[in-house]
Amino acid sequence: MRVILAQPRGFCAGVVRAIEIVDRALRQHGAPVYVRHEIVHNRHVVDNLRQKGARFVEELDEVPQGAVAIFSAHGVAKTVERDAEARGLDVLDATCPLVTKVHVQGRQYVAAGRTLILIGHAGHPEVEGTIGQIPGKVLLVQSEAQVAKLELREDTPLAYVTQTTLSVDDTRGIIDALMRRFTDIVGPDTRDICYATQNRQAAVRALSKEVDVLLVVGATNSSNSNRLREIGSESGVASYLVADGSEVKAEWFASVRTVGITAGASAPEEMVENVIDALRALGPVDVTTMAGHEEKVEFKLPSKLMQPLAAREV
Ligand code: SF4
Repeated sequence: MRVILAQPRGFCAGVVRAIEIVDRALRQHGAPVYVRHEIVHNRHVVDNLRQKGARFVEELDEVPQGAVAIFSAHGVAKTVERDAEARGLDVLDATCPLVTKVHVQGRQYVAAGRTLILIGHAGHPEVEGTIGQIPGKVLLVQSEAQVAKLELREDTPLAYVTQTTLSVDDTRGIIDALMRRFTDIVGPDTRDICYATQNRQAAVRALSKEVDVLLVVGATNSSNSNRLREIGSESGVASYLVADGSEVKAEWFASVRTVGITAGASAPEEMVENVIDALRALGPVDVTTMAGHEEKVEFKLPSKLMQPLAAREV
Protein backbone atom coordinates (compact mmCIF):
# COMPACT_ATOMS: atom_id res chain seq x y z
CA MET A 1 0.00 0.00 0.00
CA ARG A 2 1.21 3.50 -0.79
CA VAL A 3 0.78 6.09 1.96
CA ILE A 4 0.95 9.80 1.18
CA LEU A 5 1.20 12.25 4.06
CA ALA A 6 -0.42 15.67 3.68
CA GLN A 7 1.84 18.70 3.85
CA PRO A 8 1.19 20.67 5.99
CA ARG A 9 -0.62 18.64 8.65
CA GLY A 10 -0.88 18.50 12.42
CA PHE A 11 0.17 21.07 15.00
CA CYS A 12 -0.31 24.75 14.17
CA ALA A 13 1.56 27.60 15.87
CA GLY A 14 -1.37 28.29 18.23
CA VAL A 15 -1.37 24.71 19.51
CA VAL A 16 2.43 24.59 19.87
CA ARG A 17 2.27 27.82 21.91
CA ALA A 18 -0.58 26.57 24.13
CA ILE A 19 1.22 23.31 24.97
CA GLU A 20 4.48 25.19 25.59
CA ILE A 21 2.66 27.52 28.00
CA VAL A 22 1.44 24.58 30.12
CA ASP A 23 4.85 22.90 29.97
CA ARG A 24 6.72 26.04 31.02
CA ALA A 25 4.17 26.85 33.71
CA LEU A 26 4.72 23.40 35.21
CA ARG A 27 8.48 23.84 35.14
CA GLN A 28 8.36 27.37 36.59
CA HIS A 29 5.66 26.89 39.23
CA GLY A 30 5.67 23.15 39.81
CA ALA A 31 2.56 20.92 39.78
CA PRO A 32 -0.30 21.38 39.89
CA VAL A 33 -1.22 24.09 37.43
CA TYR A 34 -4.89 24.35 36.45
CA VAL A 35 -6.06 24.49 32.84
CA ARG A 36 -9.57 25.67 32.06
CA HIS A 37 -11.02 23.36 29.42
CA GLU A 38 -8.88 20.97 27.33
CA ILE A 39 -5.85 23.09 26.39
CA VAL A 40 -6.37 21.88 22.80
CA HIS A 41 -8.87 19.31 21.57
CA ASN A 42 -6.70 16.20 21.75
CA ARG A 43 -6.82 13.47 24.38
CA HIS A 44 -3.18 12.43 23.91
CA VAL A 45 -1.97 15.98 24.44
CA VAL A 46 -4.21 16.41 27.48
CA ASP A 47 -3.21 13.03 29.01
CA ASN A 48 0.46 13.82 28.51
CA LEU A 49 0.16 17.18 30.28
CA ARG A 50 -1.99 15.61 33.01
CA GLN A 51 0.79 13.11 33.71
CA LYS A 52 3.19 16.02 34.13
CA GLY A 53 0.91 17.63 36.73
CA ALA A 54 -1.64 19.74 34.85
CA ARG A 55 -5.20 19.58 36.20
CA PHE A 56 -7.98 20.17 33.72
CA VAL A 57 -11.14 21.86 34.96
CA GLU A 58 -14.28 23.06 33.23
CA GLU A 59 -14.87 26.10 35.43
CA LEU A 60 -12.68 28.36 37.55
CA ASP A 61 -14.54 27.60 40.80
CA GLU A 62 -12.67 24.27 40.73
CA VAL A 63 -9.34 26.16 40.97
CA PRO A 64 -8.00 26.96 44.47
CA GLN A 65 -7.58 30.68 45.23
CA GLY A 66 -4.23 32.07 44.15
CA ALA A 67 -3.29 29.05 41.99
CA VAL A 68 -1.90 29.19 38.43
CA ALA A 69 -4.78 29.05 35.92
CA ILE A 70 -4.26 28.69 32.18
CA PHE A 71 -6.92 29.60 29.62
CA SER A 72 -7.08 27.24 26.63
CA ALA A 73 -6.15 28.10 23.03
CA HIS A 74 -9.86 28.60 22.22
CA GLY A 75 -10.14 31.77 24.31
CA VAL A 76 -12.51 32.73 27.10
CA ALA A 77 -15.32 35.20 27.76
CA LYS A 78 -14.70 38.45 29.68
CA THR A 79 -16.69 37.03 32.60
CA VAL A 80 -14.09 34.26 32.95
CA GLU A 81 -11.26 36.82 32.97
CA ARG A 82 -13.09 38.83 35.66
CA ASP A 83 -13.77 35.68 37.71
CA ALA A 84 -10.09 34.77 37.61
CA GLU A 85 -9.14 38.23 38.82
CA ALA A 86 -11.71 38.13 41.62
CA ARG A 87 -10.31 34.77 42.80
CA GLY A 88 -6.75 36.11 42.74
CA LEU A 89 -5.63 33.48 40.23
CA ASP A 90 -2.24 33.75 38.54
CA VAL A 91 -3.50 33.67 34.95
CA LEU A 92 -1.57 32.54 31.88
CA ASP A 93 -3.55 33.09 28.72
CA ALA A 94 -2.96 30.47 26.00
CA THR A 95 -5.65 31.93 23.73
CA CYS A 96 -4.29 31.71 20.17
CA PRO A 97 -3.31 35.18 18.94
CA LEU A 98 -5.46 34.59 15.84
CA VAL A 99 -8.51 34.06 18.08
CA THR A 100 -7.63 37.23 20.00
CA LYS A 101 -7.47 39.04 16.68
CA VAL A 102 -11.09 38.03 15.99
CA HIS A 103 -12.10 39.36 19.45
CA VAL A 104 -10.44 42.70 18.68
CA GLN A 105 -12.06 42.94 15.25
CA GLY A 106 -15.48 42.16 16.76
CA ARG A 107 -15.13 44.85 19.43
CA GLN A 108 -14.04 47.40 16.83
CA TYR A 109 -17.11 46.73 14.68
CA VAL A 110 -19.44 47.02 17.68
CA ALA A 111 -17.72 50.25 18.79
CA ALA A 112 -18.38 51.60 15.29
CA GLY A 113 -22.11 51.05 15.87
CA ARG A 114 -22.57 47.83 13.91
CA THR A 115 -24.55 44.76 14.96
CA LEU A 116 -22.17 41.79 15.00
CA ILE A 117 -22.77 38.42 13.36
CA LEU A 118 -20.49 35.54 14.32
CA ILE A 119 -20.22 32.73 11.79
CA GLY A 120 -19.45 29.54 13.74
CA HIS A 121 -20.65 26.40 15.50
CA ALA A 122 -22.91 26.76 18.55
CA GLY A 123 -21.39 25.32 21.71
CA HIS A 124 -17.77 25.37 20.49
CA PRO A 125 -15.59 26.92 23.23
CA GLU A 126 -14.06 29.40 20.79
CA VAL A 127 -17.53 30.62 19.81
CA GLU A 128 -18.59 30.94 23.46
CA GLY A 129 -15.39 32.85 24.21
CA THR A 130 -15.79 35.20 21.26
CA ILE A 131 -19.44 35.95 22.10
CA GLY A 132 -18.37 36.67 25.67
CA GLN A 133 -15.60 39.02 24.56
CA ILE A 134 -17.92 41.35 22.67
CA PRO A 135 -20.02 43.88 24.57
CA GLY A 136 -23.68 43.62 23.57
CA LYS A 137 -25.56 41.06 21.55
CA VAL A 138 -23.78 38.84 19.03
CA LEU A 139 -25.89 36.91 16.51
CA LEU A 140 -24.55 33.43 15.82
CA VAL A 141 -25.09 32.15 12.28
CA GLN A 142 -24.27 28.53 11.45
CA SER A 143 -25.69 28.09 7.96
CA GLU A 144 -26.95 29.90 4.88
CA ALA A 145 -30.52 28.96 5.87
CA GLN A 146 -30.13 30.89 9.13
CA VAL A 147 -29.25 34.07 7.25
CA ALA A 148 -32.80 34.25 5.89
CA LYS A 149 -34.21 33.89 9.41
CA LEU A 150 -32.29 36.81 10.96
CA GLU A 151 -34.83 39.28 12.32
CA LEU A 152 -33.07 42.40 11.08
CA ARG A 153 -33.96 45.18 8.66
CA GLU A 154 -32.14 44.95 5.34
CA ASP A 155 -30.35 48.26 5.95
CA THR A 156 -29.15 47.50 9.53
CA PRO A 157 -25.45 48.38 9.84
CA LEU A 158 -23.87 44.93 10.27
CA ALA A 159 -20.46 43.32 10.51
CA TYR A 160 -19.39 39.69 10.62
CA VAL A 161 -16.49 37.77 12.10
CA THR A 162 -15.88 34.03 11.90
CA GLN A 163 -14.67 31.11 14.02
CA THR A 164 -11.02 30.52 13.12
CA THR A 165 -11.31 26.82 12.36
CA LEU A 166 -13.76 27.41 9.53
CA SER A 167 -12.01 28.22 6.27
CA VAL A 168 -12.69 30.72 3.53
CA ASP A 169 -14.51 27.97 1.66
CA ASP A 170 -16.64 27.05 4.67
CA THR A 171 -17.76 30.58 5.24
CA ARG A 172 -18.05 31.78 1.65
CA GLY A 173 -21.65 30.59 1.17
CA ILE A 174 -22.82 32.22 4.42
CA ILE A 175 -21.01 35.49 3.69
CA ASP A 176 -22.45 35.57 0.16
CA ALA A 177 -25.95 35.04 1.60
CA LEU A 178 -25.37 37.89 4.10
CA MET A 179 -24.14 40.18 1.31
CA ARG A 180 -27.17 39.38 -0.82
CA ARG A 181 -29.63 40.08 1.97
CA PHE A 182 -28.11 43.12 3.72
CA THR A 183 -27.09 46.42 2.18
CA ASP A 184 -24.67 47.71 4.85
CA ILE A 185 -22.42 44.87 5.96
CA VAL A 186 -18.66 44.69 6.40
CA GLY A 187 -16.19 42.03 7.55
CA PRO A 188 -12.50 41.20 7.58
CA ASP A 189 -10.65 39.60 4.71
CA THR A 190 -11.43 35.96 5.51
CA ARG A 191 -8.28 34.79 3.70
CA ASP A 192 -6.18 35.65 6.73
CA ILE A 193 -8.43 34.31 9.52
CA CYS A 194 -6.18 31.33 10.21
CA TYR A 195 -3.30 30.31 7.95
CA ALA A 196 -3.24 26.80 9.50
CA THR A 197 -6.90 25.97 8.83
CA GLN A 198 -6.57 27.25 5.30
CA ASN A 199 -3.31 25.41 4.53
CA ARG A 200 -4.47 22.06 5.97
CA GLN A 201 -7.72 22.19 4.05
CA ALA A 202 -5.97 23.12 0.77
CA ALA A 203 -3.52 20.24 1.27
CA VAL A 204 -6.34 17.73 1.86
CA ARG A 205 -8.19 18.94 -1.21
CA ALA A 206 -5.05 18.31 -3.32
CA LEU A 207 -4.26 15.00 -1.58
CA SER A 208 -7.81 13.70 -2.11
CA LYS A 209 -7.19 13.69 -5.87
CA GLU A 210 -4.42 11.10 -5.44
CA VAL A 211 -5.75 8.64 -2.86
CA ASP A 212 -8.43 5.97 -2.50
CA VAL A 213 -8.91 6.41 1.25
CA LEU A 214 -8.21 9.37 3.54
CA LEU A 215 -7.41 9.06 7.23
CA VAL A 216 -7.65 12.20 9.35
CA VAL A 217 -5.83 11.92 12.66
CA GLY A 218 -7.69 13.99 15.23
CA ALA A 219 -10.28 14.07 17.97
CA THR A 220 -14.03 13.84 17.43
CA ASN A 221 -14.49 17.18 19.26
CA SER A 222 -11.87 18.92 17.10
CA SER A 223 -13.69 21.24 14.72
CA ASN A 224 -10.85 21.52 12.21
CA SER A 225 -10.23 17.74 12.14
CA ASN A 226 -13.91 17.07 11.39
CA ARG A 227 -13.77 19.61 8.61
CA LEU A 228 -10.74 17.88 7.04
CA ARG A 229 -12.66 14.60 7.00
CA GLU A 230 -15.68 16.31 5.42
CA ILE A 231 -13.48 17.79 2.69
CA GLY A 232 -12.18 14.29 1.90
CA SER A 233 -15.74 12.96 1.67
CA GLU A 234 -16.88 15.91 -0.45
CA SER A 235 -14.01 15.10 -2.81
CA GLY A 236 -15.44 11.59 -3.26
CA VAL A 237 -12.85 9.76 -1.14
CA ALA A 238 -13.81 7.39 1.70
CA SER A 239 -12.63 9.41 4.70
CA TYR A 240 -12.27 8.42 8.35
CA LEU A 241 -11.45 10.38 11.50
CA VAL A 242 -9.21 8.37 13.84
CA ALA A 243 -7.71 9.35 17.19
CA ASP A 244 -4.82 6.88 16.76
CA GLY A 245 -3.85 3.54 15.18
CA SER A 246 -6.16 1.52 17.44
CA GLU A 247 -9.16 2.95 15.56
CA VAL A 248 -7.90 1.91 12.10
CA LYS A 249 -10.07 -0.89 10.64
CA ALA A 250 -8.69 -3.44 8.17
CA GLU A 251 -11.94 -3.51 6.13
CA TRP A 252 -11.42 0.12 5.04
CA PHE A 253 -8.47 -0.97 2.89
CA ALA A 254 -9.80 -3.90 0.85
CA SER A 255 -8.41 -3.41 -2.71
CA VAL A 256 -7.07 0.04 -1.75
CA ARG A 257 -3.72 1.02 -3.29
CA THR A 258 -3.15 4.53 -1.96
CA VAL A 259 -4.00 5.98 1.45
CA GLY A 260 -3.72 9.66 2.33
CA ILE A 261 -3.07 10.73 5.91
CA THR A 262 -3.49 14.17 7.40
CA ALA A 263 -3.82 15.43 10.97
CA GLY A 264 -5.87 18.18 12.57
CA ALA A 265 -4.15 21.22 14.06
CA SER A 266 -4.30 19.72 17.56
CA ALA A 267 -3.09 16.20 16.66
CA PRO A 268 0.52 15.29 17.54
CA GLU A 269 2.83 13.78 14.91
CA GLU A 270 3.33 10.68 17.15
CA MET A 271 -0.30 9.82 16.48
CA VAL A 272 0.34 10.02 12.71
CA GLU A 273 3.27 7.61 13.24
CA ASN A 274 0.99 5.41 15.32
CA VAL A 275 -1.56 5.28 12.46
CA ILE A 276 1.20 4.41 9.95
CA ASP A 277 2.28 1.57 12.27
CA ALA A 278 -1.31 0.29 12.28
CA LEU A 279 -1.24 0.26 8.46
CA ARG A 280 2.12 -1.56 8.52
CA ALA A 281 0.47 -4.25 10.62
CA LEU A 282 -1.86 -4.87 7.64
CA GLY A 283 0.97 -5.24 5.09
CA PRO A 284 4.00 -3.46 3.61
CA VAL A 285 3.60 0.29 3.14
CA ASP A 286 5.61 2.83 1.19
CA VAL A 287 5.37 6.26 2.88
CA THR A 288 5.98 9.56 1.08
CA THR A 289 5.03 13.17 1.83
CA MET A 290 3.25 15.31 -0.74
CA ALA A 291 4.95 18.47 -1.94
CA GLY A 292 3.27 21.24 0.00
CA HIS A 293 3.47 24.53 1.78
CA GLU A 294 6.13 24.80 4.48
CA GLU A 295 4.87 26.78 7.49
CA LYS A 296 7.20 29.00 9.50
CA VAL A 297 4.68 30.75 11.74
CA GLU A 298 5.58 31.08 15.43
CA PHE A 299 3.70 32.93 18.17
CA LYS A 300 5.40 34.59 21.13
CA LEU A 301 4.89 33.20 24.63
CA PRO A 302 3.40 35.40 27.39
CA SER A 303 6.16 37.59 28.84
CA LYS A 304 5.67 36.03 32.33
CA LEU A 305 7.05 32.79 30.92
CA MET A 306 9.99 34.25 29.07
CA GLN A 307 12.47 34.14 31.98
CA PRO A 308 15.22 31.58 31.36
CA LEU A 309 13.92 28.33 32.83
CA ALA A 310 17.24 27.23 34.29
CA ALA A 311 17.23 30.22 36.66
CA ARG A 312 13.86 29.24 38.13
CA GLU A 313 13.90 25.48 37.96
CA VAL A 314 14.81 23.67 41.16
S1 SF4 B 1 -6.06 26.46 14.20
FE1 SF4 B 1 -5.48 28.60 13.77
S2 SF4 B 1 -6.67 29.83 15.20
FE2 SF4 B 1 -6.73 27.70 15.95
S3 SF4 B 1 -5.02 27.56 17.39
FE3 SF4 B 1 -4.22 26.94 15.40
S4 SF4 B 1 -3.35 28.83 14.49
FE4 SF4 B 1 -4.71 29.44 16.17
